[in-house]
Order: sequence, then structure tokens, then C-alpha cells
Amino acid sequence: MNILVVGGAGYIGSHMVRQLDLAGYKVVVLDNLSTGFRQAVTAGELIVGEMADQKLVKSVLSDHAIDAVMHFAACALVGESVAEPSKYYRTNVLATIELLDAMRATNVKRMVFSSTCATYGIPDVVPISEKTPQKPVNPYGFTKLVIERALEDYAHAYGFGFAALRYFNAAGASPLGGIGEDHAPESHLIPIVLQVALGQREHISIYGNDWPTPDKTCVRDYIHVDDLSLAHMAALERLELGKGLKVNLGTGNGFSVKQIIETCRDITGHDIRAIEGARRPGDPPELVADASLAKEVLGWEPQYCTPKPIIETAWRWHQSHPQGYDKETAKGSA
Ligand code: UDP
Repeated sequence: MNILVVGGAGYIGSHMVRQLDLAGYKVVVLDNLSTGFRQAVTAGELIVGEMADQKLVKSVLSDHAIDAVMHFAACALVGESVAEPSKYYRTNVLATIELLDAMRATNVKRMVFSSTCATYGIPDVVPISEKTPQKPVNPYGFTKLVIERALEDYAHAYGFGFAALRYFNAAGASPLGGIGEDHAPESHLIPIVLQVALGQREHISIYGNDWPTPDKTCVRDYIHVDDLSLAHMAALERLELGKGLKVNLGTGNGFSVKQIIETCRDITGHDIRAIEGARRPGDPPELVADASLAKEVLGWEPQYCTPKPIIETAWRWHQSHPQGYDKETAKGSA
């Protein structure tokens, strides 16, 4: 099978590309390198361009005889989505509809879509199953939910087959080395804590110490990027035209901010300074997946079930690439 990975130069997409290549798929990557990196693409051909460019996408789909699209290209920061909703609706919704219509025009009707637990908003009950009502509380979550709905409508009207995979907190790096998490500016917990361990930051700010959780800090379900990728492959193999799968991807295990920091201290051997501060607007107290449907319908289970082995892979990446990808060559020609 020939797979187009849109956003394959980004954090999760680049791990997907590697896993597809290892499994023997032919991979083509489309990425505008707005947040991705040329060096993150370790297999297949990289085409630098916009997913909203229907002319380009149609020719890529036909020229490479693409069978299915995996779509990772999105803006994915909750706070930024509140401050700059236009950017989120344009990228996550408008450009994705262009991509879907280029697929429709070339009769490529299979898509695996990166969705998110942010589509659930602040759930009344945890763990979160796929039956939990989707009530997003920020533009990021809304934009992802809009595309889930569009995919359902495209399945019904045009015969698309799709999987919408609702990620919990993606973390870690490829144990094979060379690729990992690199955002500018970084806002995610684990990379920031590891940057403190590397001496690149003074401290980690804990966002809120008055949450209704056991140690009063927020609880999240951290899932390794390779586990996410393997679930995508399982979903790809199960796509059925005219139908959609909507599945949570998490481990089912929740860990608090304080537990993550403590685990990072154990792994790195560094005394990581943590300062308890104000809550971050928009953060739900606890997001943990009910991961049973993924097991049932994808036959998939995470290999990394606790933060320690996940963070160990992230720590190896951060030690070997303390500044992330080489920014000099990242955006330039190959
Ligand atoms: N967090 C924190 N300090 C930071 C970054 C994150 O306390 O500098 C907390 C955040 O409030 C959340 C958890 O860590 O409870 C995970 O945040 P992250 O931004 O990594 O992912 P999110 O859950 O927002 O997708």
C-alpha cells in the first residue's frame, strides 16, 4: 500500500513515517515545514507544500498511486487556539476540507485522522470512553470535532472510510534514535521538565496545586508516540469504505504533574526545580482514557504502559539533541 502522510515532518507524523517504512509500506510525506523538520523525515519522499493546495495534492495522490492518507498536519496548542482562533479554523478546518476534496477528486477515500481527547472538553466522568459526550471547550477541540463530523458526512455521502483517533497525551521518542519532540516554543510538560534537567531552564512551573486530584496537580494519560503509530497502522488495515471508526488512544493510566516530575528526577538523576504556580486556563483536571475500544476494534494495546519507559526514550532524545533538530539545515534544501 502507498500512504501519504500529511504532516509527516512533525512530531507524531515523523514517528508514523518510520513505523510505516519498517512495516513495508511505501511512504510519501507532504509537509509545509511550518513546524516540522526536514531531518525528521527518515523514510520516503518529502514533498514540501500546502495541504490546501488542491492542484498539488491531486497530483501527489495520482502520481504516487496513493491508497490512503494519514493526516497529522494541524495546529495543536490549546492556549494558542484561544488567542488565535482564525489560525486554527484555517489550518485545521479549511485546509483539511481542501485536502479531503482533493482526495474525493482523485478517488482516494481512506483517511486516518489525528483527533484528540480535547473534543471531550471537561468530562463529567473519568475514564473517558468514546460514548462520553463531545463538548469541546476551546477552538482547538472544536476544529478537530468539526473534521470528525465532516468525515462522517463524507463517509455517508461520498463513501469515504475513516478512522478518527482521539489521542490523549503523546510523549516519548523513537527508541531507534534520531527523531523526537521539538516544538518552538515548547509548552509540553515532559520536554520542559527534561530541559530543566539539561540546565536549559531554571525550573518547571506546575500549573495549579489546588485541583480536585489526589496530589492536587493535573492528571493526564501519557502515551508513547510509537504506540500511537502502531494503533494508526492497525486502524489503516481496518478501514472500510462508507464507515468510520472513532477510537480513543491512551494507556488507561493517569499520572499527575508531580508524578511526572518525580519520574524525570529518577531517570535523569537531576534535582529538577519545580515551582507551584497558577492554573493554566483551559486545563481540565483529569484526562484519562477508557482504552478498551481500541483493544476490541483495533486489536491494539500499548507497549509502554507507564511514564518511566516513555520518559526514558524522551530523555535519550533530549540528551542526544539538546537543541532539537539542527535549525540551520532543517528548513533548507536537502
Ligand atoms: N503542565 C505544567 N507545566 C508546564 C506544562 C504543562 O504543569 O510547564 C501541565 C499542564 O497543566 C497539564 C499537563 O502538564 O496538566 C500536561 O500538559 P501538556 O501541555 O504537556 O499537554 P496537554 O494536557 O495540555 O495536552
